Amino acid sequence: MTIENESDKWIEKRPVWPAILKGLRGKCPRCGEGRIFHKWLKVSQQCSVCGQDLHHERAQDFPPYVVIVIVGHVVVTALMLVEARTDWSMTTHLLVWIPLTVVLTLALLQPVKGGVVGLQWALKMFGFGDDHEKDG
Ligand SMILES: [Zn+2]
Repeated sequence: MTIENESDKWIEKRPVWPAILKGLRGKCPRCGEGRIFHKWLKVSQQCSVCGQDLHHERAQDFPPYVVIVIVGHVVVTALMLVEARTDWSMTTHLLVWIPLTVVLTLALLQPVKGGVVGLQWALKMFGFGDDHEKDG
């Protein structure tokens, strides 16, 4: 994104969907190259490539909420379809749906948190709109 002069920095355009998609890939929402996370769900202080401050994120409980909604819809839908078409025992159901729920949850938590960080950056939430000296 190009900023034409110093006074325009505060109105820098930050497209939401590209920022979310970069976050879903675990990449910095600004440059798309640096990593957001330095541990599984720990957000880095800054992007190692462009220097964007990332410590402003306040994802908190939102990523788990989104993951619960996604996994709940996938697993419950699949369970109901299988239940209607097969005669699996309760043990078989437990052996399929519990591990699937755990695996999907663990697989989605980091990408969803990255997407939430990207969304917060694009909307200049919390401190993401205040660090003009890092932009440009
Ligand atoms: Zn970056």
